Amino acid sequence: MPNQSQERQATGEGAQSSPAVATIFSETEHPIREHQLDREALKVLYRLRDAGYKGYLVGGGVRDLFLGKQPKDFDISTDARPGQLRRLFRNSRTIGRRFRLVQVFFRGNKIIEVSTLRSRSEYDEGGEGELLASNNTFGTLEEDAFRRDLTINSLFYEIEGRTVIDYVGGVEDLNRGVIRMVGDPDQRFTHDPVRMLRVVRHAARTGFSIDPATSAALRRHSGELMLCPPSRLRDEILKDLRSGASQAWAEQCLATPLWRTLFPFYRHGGRDAQEQGRLALLRILAEMDRVCQSDREERPVRIDDYFLFAALLLPWACSRFHLPGERLRGPQFHERLTALRDEIDRHFAVPFNVPRMAKERISTLLINLSTLHHVGNGKDHPRWLQRKSYYQDCKRLYALYQLSQGRSVQGVSAEDFSSPVQKQKAVEVISAVQGASSSRGRGGGNPAFSSKKSGVFGLRSRRHS
Ligand code: ATP
Ligand code: MG
Repeated sequence: MPNQSQERQATGEGAQSSPAVATIFSETEHPIREHQLDREALKVLYRLRDAGYKGYLVGGGVRDLFLGKQPKDFDISTDARPGQLRRLFRNSRTIGRRFRLVQVFFRGNKIIEVSTLRSRSEYDEGGEGELLASNNTFGTLEEDAFRRDLTINSLFYEIEGRTVIDYVGGVEDLNRGVIRMVGDPDQRFTHDPVRMLRVVRHAARTGFSIDPATSAALRRHSGELMLCPPSRLRDEILKDLRSGASQAWAEQCLATPLWRTLFPFYRHGGRDAQEQGRLALLRILAEMDRVCQSDREERPVRIDDYFLFAALLLPWACSRFHLPGERLRGPQFHERLTALRDEIDRHFAVPFNVPRMAKERISTLLINLSTLHHVGNGKDHPRWLQRKSYYQDCKRLYALYQLSQGRSVQGVSAEDFSSPVQKQKAVEVISAVQGASSSRGRGGGNPAFSSKKSGVFGLRSRRHS
């Protein structure tokens, strides 16, 4: 039994009318062992302790260790102020304007982020333009727990007694497999609708069920998601596409109104077409998950943002633009590409602030599904396409298309993505229009955009087959 079991229901973020009582779990009552903590995170925690401050492992690190997973990062919270931290850790820097965070640097580009305990989340501030004196943002351990999003993300681990400190019922939720917002979910979602994405993210990653009150509030507020800054939404979606649990994420979103809110264009076609699209998408994401998971076990895999988005849009683009069934050539190719690019712009690039280069690349990869579909394997691929920097990506996307249709292909292996990240030069994002032109024997159009070694700017494609 925990040595303090008194607790009361959290009512919201920040200000608590009367102090909440933490439940303290001793080492015999929780599965976290000190040796599981990252060496550098431990160094930071011990340095804080030796200097007379309190230091806690917080957030996702505690959650993952509790669940027996390897945390992605180890975040630390402390009662030391940013200035004190800077003096304590000489090899550090401060980032963030409103909530200053100190990054402590270690050998091998290792960074441990240390934040001062806060009284409230930046999204839970009062009215617009409210500016608190900076010291008003610092808070107690209790306040810091209540400003967090999910109960399972609001736990603290401290090294002195090796205990887990729980103000919000997070340990019970971890044990019962429940995703629950801290405080009043209606209020928390209104203040920051991105929290709804965090609910489905963690439900997908853990396989936990969503607490009924949280789920009901999510249904009520899902329409507010698009009030968030487009770049923030884009980054959140990318995080899920790369998580290794993107299939479960899509299933969670599809089971709530969130999917419709994010991607209303996916409702294209009749019931059967939509069901086919859904199945195709889930197959694609399952394959992407396989690649991303092998990343963790073996070596770093970096799938480019544009490729992830192209994969996400693939079933919709195929249904909406009759890809890849129709063979597209010459003017038809250009027209279809223009239409595809326009719709991607309207439905996707604008709402999620997708950079122009990525948008171009997404359209190029999707339209060329048709190019690859109508030729045989490997050697028969058009020469103009083989010379493009995006040729390998086209082949990978086409492999995903085939998988999405239930055909067995060799699969998209993690190896395909494990080469060093290849920075695409601006001039290499040559529009597919040019490709189509060169296939008609006009040699690639404007030489300034040539991808050949001897192009006007001497830039060459680095991804030859
Ligand atoms: P991941 O494994 O993806 O890093 P995480 O839970 O650590 O998961 P982060 O985005 O790194 O997620 O956030 C760190 C912590 O900050 C969270 O565990 C949570 O306690 C808190 N947090 C993050 N976003 C919010 C938010 N929008 N509102 C309240 N608390 C948040
Ligand atoms: Mg984290």
